[in-house]
Amino acid sequence: MTSPSIPVATLGAPRIGPRRELKTALESFWAGKITEAELLERAAALRVATWARQKAHGATVLPSNDFSLYDHVLDTSVMVGAIPEIYGWGGGVAPLSVAFAMARGAEGETEAACGHAHGAGAPAQEMTKWFDTNYHYMVPEFRPGQRFQVASHKPIEQYLEAKALGYETRPVLLGPVTFLKLGKTKEPGFDPLDLLPSLLPTYMHILRRLNASGAEWVQIDEPCLVLDLDDRTRDALRQAYGTFAQTLPNLKVMLTTYFGALGDNLDLALSLPVAGLHVDLVRAPEQLEAVAAKAPRGLVLSLGVIDGRNVWRADLPKLADRLRAVVAKRGADHVQIAPSCSLLHVPVDLEQETALDPDVKSWLAFFVQKVEELAALATFLSGDKTAAAPAFEASARAAAARKASPKVHNAAVAARLASVTESMARRKSAFAARAETQRRRFDLPRFPTTTIGSFPQTGDVRKARSAHARGALDDAAYETFLRAETERAVRWQEEIGLDVLVHGEFERNDMVQYFGEQLSGFAFTEHAWVQSYGSRCVRPPILFGDVSREKPMTVGWWRYAQSLTKKPMKAMLTGPVTILNWSFVRDDVPRSDACRQIALAIRDEVLDLEKAGAAMIQIDEAALREGLPLRRGEWDRYLGWAVECFRICASAVADATQIHTHMCYSEFNDIIAAIALMDADVISIETSRSKMELLEAFRSYRYPNQIGPGVYDIHSPRVPTPEEMRDLIALARQRLDDAQIWINPDCGLKTRGWAEVKPALANMVAAARQVRASA
Ligand code: GLN
Ligand code: ZN
Repeated sequence: MTSPSIPVATLGAPRIGPRRELKTALESFWAGKITEAELLERAAALRVATWARQKAHGATVLPSNDFSLYDHVLDTSVMVGAIPEIYGWGGGVAPLSVAFAMARGAEGETEAACGHAHGAGAPAQEMTKWFDTNYHYMVPEFRPGQRFQVASHKPIEQYLEAKALGYETRPVLLGPVTFLKLGKTKEPGFDPLDLLPSLLPTYMHILRRLNASGAEWVQIDEPCLVLDLDDRTRDALRQAYGTFAQTLPNLKVMLTTYFGALGDNLDLALSLPVAGLHVDLVRAPEQLEAVAAKAPRGLVLSLGVIDGRNVWRADLPKLADRLRAVVAKRGADHVQIAPSCSLLHVPVDLEQETALDPDVKSWLAFFVQKVEELAALATFLSGDKTAAAPAFEASARAAAARKASPKVHNAAVAARLASVTESMARRKSAFAARAETQRRRFDLPRFPTTTIGSFPQTGDVRKARSAHARGALDDAAYETFLRAETERAVRWQEEIGLDVLVHGEFERNDMVQYFGEQLSGFAFTEHAWVQSYGSRCVRPPILFGDVSREKPMTVGWWRYAQSLTKKPMKAMLTGPVTILNWSFVRDDVPRSDACRQIALAIRDEVLDLEKAGAAMIQIDEAALREGLPLRRGEWDRYLGWAVECFRICASAVADATQIHTHMCYSEFNDIIAAIALMDADVISIETSRSKMELLEAFRSYRYPNQIGPGVYDIHSPRVPTPEEMRDLIALARQRLDDAQIWINPDCGLKTRGWAEVKPALANMVAAARQVRASA
């Protein structure tokens, strides 16, 4: 295809490589197997390949500095010298070891069941989710009076690196205002935005050097523009971009927003003295008209029309129809075609998937395919319809096939969804009555002890699973192995005296995948990895169609485990909201409908478990909070259907059946009403690190149901003593009634080793006994 006259930008590319080459390189380096020079060489090779790939598939505005060895927010902290003292940076250019210490702690990271890592030695910086994605960034740290100084020239180095290869790129920087807003401070009452005047000179230094090196444009990302902003932030944006325009009049800034609508920030964004504005027209298609109508004549509009957050192939003719008028009105030299956001969040190349159902495959587009879509769209809109025709025809065919496919649409599921009634989401009796029934049934001691579900997934367990997947271990041998592991775990739980047992989840590869693989409507890939943080990648299931459950998914393992013991065996399920939030979700029905379909399937599983005799059933909703919309005004709607979906799963059972749920680390203050509406009989939460402060929300709300606040920090290999856990229980008792309290670890134990888990849980049981004896 000849290159279109309308520019094609990608905003950013996946960093990990088609075969996770970056992961391999990083982990080899951390393990001491390769040198720093070798790591840097491999990273450079990935950048070269990525530029070449984008160019070959039709991108004309290539990004640079979108690559990062670990995280672009961390890179920004290093760039401006926002490096806390403990990392031992003495000024000047910061060595790589400083950045890795910030990322992983001085002694490297450990993993936890919730997927979050925590440094073991000099602590890693805090990590949190990048807006509403599953990408995690390292949280910058700020203090009053902080000075900034350039400690990395990476943006310039990578710009020049591309230039030397013959690529003229548009360097990407995280904007100063979003950067400050993403940071945290230990100083109460201090607003990091106060630091803007002292931060700006470092940005100006970098921008000036980029400009002097030949960069005509830079892309500055300010995704904070899609959030609810206060006046201070608005002023900060005016100040930052006013300063850039004044001091660098020859540098063109593409101010880049994504993950939502500009909404009430539209006028502000359009008033900033920048040369271009990028808007997300996938999350917020409706803003196209307003943006186009209000944008000043000379402003270049970057139209983010290809979904950078999801894996679906676009309907190109439909998009072209939608954009034609805007392009005609503004002129080809004042628009650019782009993905909604950086393509960092999608897998690299669909062509690597050789085992996918060919129909499903034909509906998908990953990074490489999305670049092709952008190019075809730009070609068409530039007027070369013939050149774009093959891509447009294929796109239209795929869209029509997907719309009509029986693999996507199941009339029985639609009928069932339509018949959901309010009473299906209501338990038979209120909590107080259920609690009494359950108390008589279980006759548990006060402060009953339990765990969250998984036990260590040892090397042996992983080896057996991969041998089974490869076909090297047959079904019967694998089953025998898993039974032995389960039996050992059950016996051991009995021995140490836990009150409520679990089967250990040895048969599960992952808490979402395990269910997705047994439900229709989900597809799984071989290589469709996306970066979660640093070298960690996830391979989310693809929810492409109506969800149904052919047969029970967990009953066999539960029944086997219960047959080994007289103690209650808690059954273990993943909840619908978590399955949804950790998958690539279909874009042809509302998220809430997709979630309700999953909820109905899980509801059936709950009933089958109850029928088999399960008296306690845990439905994990680890990712409930993660799904919260970026704008406050949209929270109630989300929480409304999310809670309803949980209740659809949980409400079919008898009063005597005890429903548990579990949530990983969450702030509860602002969602406590929704948590209470979930009405689980027991909720276990992560609290040990917060010294039980997270219980404050439950106390002040007078949360009535039972709670298991975690007393054992499973993120650390350290074995807590009975005394410290007793102290934590004492703190919990200040905030809750004794009758509400369960004793459990913070989260599942699958990433820990038995050597720590055994003494830690034995100590936990001892702590519970001490409290019972003295209370
Ligand atoms: N039941 C799951 C486990 O124990 C819960 C994990 C999670 O909350 N992330 O592994
Ligand atoms: Zn958890």
